[in-house]
Amino acid sequence: MNLDEVRTKLLALRKELTARHERIDKHIHHRDEPRAQDSEERAGESSNDETMELLDANALEELQQIDHALARIDLGTYGQCEKCKDPIPEERLEFLPYTSQCVSCTVD
Ligand SMILES: [Zn+2]
Repeated sequence: MNLDEVRTKLLALRKELTARHERIDKHIHHRDEPRAQDSEERAGESSNDETMELLDANALEELQQIDHALARIDLGTYGQCEKCKDPIPEERLEFLPYTSQCVSCTVD
Protein backbone atom coordinates (compact mmCIF):
# COMPACT_ATOMS: atom_id res chain seq x y z
CA MET A 1 0.00 0.00 0.00
CA ASN A 2 1.37 3.41 -0.98
CA LEU A 3 0.87 5.68 2.01
CA ASP A 4 1.73 8.79 0.02
CA GLU A 5 -1.12 8.01 -2.32
CA VAL A 6 -3.45 7.40 0.61
CA ARG A 7 -2.42 10.68 2.18
CA THR A 8 -3.03 12.55 -1.08
CA LYS A 9 -6.42 10.91 -1.37
CA LEU A 10 -7.34 11.79 2.22
CA LEU A 11 -6.21 15.39 1.82
CA ALA A 12 -8.28 15.77 -1.35
CA LEU A 13 -11.29 14.33 0.43
CA ARG A 14 -10.65 16.61 3.38
CA LYS A 15 -10.59 19.66 1.11
CA GLU A 16 -13.84 18.59 -0.52
CA LEU A 17 -15.57 18.02 2.83
CA THR A 18 -14.29 21.30 4.28
CA ALA A 19 -15.74 23.13 1.28
CA ARG A 20 -19.02 21.28 1.73
CA HIS A 21 -19.08 22.13 5.42
CA GLU A 22 -18.47 25.81 4.70
CA ARG A 23 -21.20 25.87 2.07
CA ILE A 24 -23.71 24.22 4.41
CA ASP A 25 -22.69 26.42 7.30
CA LYS A 26 -23.23 29.52 5.20
CA HIS A 27 -26.60 28.20 4.10
CA ILE A 28 -27.71 27.53 7.67
CA HIS A 29 -26.41 30.71 9.27
CA HIS A 30 -26.77 33.18 6.47
CA ARG A 31 -29.77 35.13 7.67
CA ASP A 32 -29.43 38.38 5.77
CA GLU A 33 -31.99 37.43 3.21
CA PRO A 34 -35.57 38.25 4.09
CA ARG A 35 -37.43 35.25 5.52
CA ALA A 36 -40.46 33.95 3.69
CA GLN A 37 -43.64 35.41 5.12
CA ASP A 38 -45.91 32.56 4.19
CA SER A 39 -46.05 30.03 7.04
CA GLU A 40 -46.07 27.03 4.73
CA GLU A 41 -42.93 28.27 3.06
CA ARG A 42 -41.34 28.84 6.44
CA ALA A 43 -42.09 25.27 7.45
CA GLY A 44 -40.48 24.08 4.24
CA GLU A 45 -37.44 26.18 4.95
CA SER A 46 -36.90 24.90 8.45
CA SER A 47 -37.14 21.25 7.41
CA ASN A 48 -34.61 22.04 4.72
CA ASP A 49 -32.36 23.48 7.43
CA GLU A 50 -32.65 20.25 9.39
CA THR A 51 -31.56 18.26 6.36
CA MET A 52 -28.66 20.63 5.88
CA GLU A 53 -27.67 20.30 9.53
CA LEU A 54 -27.70 16.54 9.22
CA LEU A 55 -25.52 16.74 6.11
CA ASP A 56 -23.22 19.08 7.97
CA ALA A 57 -22.96 16.69 10.92
CA ASN A 58 -22.04 13.89 8.52
CA ALA A 59 -19.40 16.03 6.84
CA LEU A 60 -17.90 16.99 10.20
CA GLU A 61 -17.83 13.40 11.36
CA GLU A 62 -16.06 12.34 8.17
CA LEU A 63 -13.59 15.19 8.58
CA GLN A 64 -12.76 13.92 12.06
CA GLN A 65 -12.21 10.42 10.71
CA ILE A 66 -9.97 11.78 7.97
CA ASP A 67 -7.85 13.72 10.46
CA HIS A 68 -7.63 10.60 12.57
CA ALA A 69 -6.53 8.53 9.57
CA LEU A 70 -3.89 11.14 8.66
CA ALA A 71 -2.57 11.01 12.22
CA ARG A 72 -2.45 7.24 11.96
CA ILE A 73 -0.36 7.47 8.80
CA ASP A 74 2.13 9.62 10.74
CA LEU A 75 2.12 7.18 13.64
CA GLY A 76 2.62 4.23 11.32
CA THR A 77 -0.56 2.49 12.46
CA TYR A 78 -2.60 3.23 9.34
CA GLY A 79 -4.20 0.11 7.89
CA GLN A 80 -4.33 -1.67 11.22
CA CYS A 81 -7.67 -2.20 12.94
CA GLU A 82 -7.85 -0.12 16.14
CA LYS A 83 -9.81 -2.78 17.96
CA CYS A 84 -8.43 -6.18 17.05
CA LYS A 85 -5.09 -4.95 15.60
CA ASP A 86 -5.57 -7.09 12.51
CA PRO A 87 -4.64 -5.56 9.16
CA ILE A 88 -7.60 -3.94 7.40
CA PRO A 89 -7.94 -5.43 3.89
CA GLU A 90 -6.71 -3.10 1.16
CA GLU A 91 -9.99 -3.34 -0.76
CA ARG A 92 -11.74 -1.89 2.26
CA LEU A 93 -9.21 0.94 2.59
CA GLU A 94 -9.58 1.60 -1.10
CA PHE A 95 -13.31 2.08 -0.60
CA LEU A 96 -13.13 3.79 2.82
CA PRO A 97 -9.65 5.31 3.13
CA TYR A 98 -10.44 6.88 6.51
CA THR A 99 -11.76 3.78 8.24
CA SER A 100 -9.91 2.74 11.39
CA GLN A 101 -11.57 -0.61 11.97
CA CYS A 102 -11.96 -3.85 10.06
CA VAL A 103 -15.40 -4.98 8.93
CA SER A 104 -16.04 -7.36 11.83
CA CYS A 105 -15.13 -4.74 14.44
CA THR A 106 -17.31 -2.09 12.78
CA VAL A 107 -20.29 -4.45 12.89
CA ASP A 108 -19.81 -5.14 16.63
ZN1 LIG B 1 -10.86 -5.47 13.83
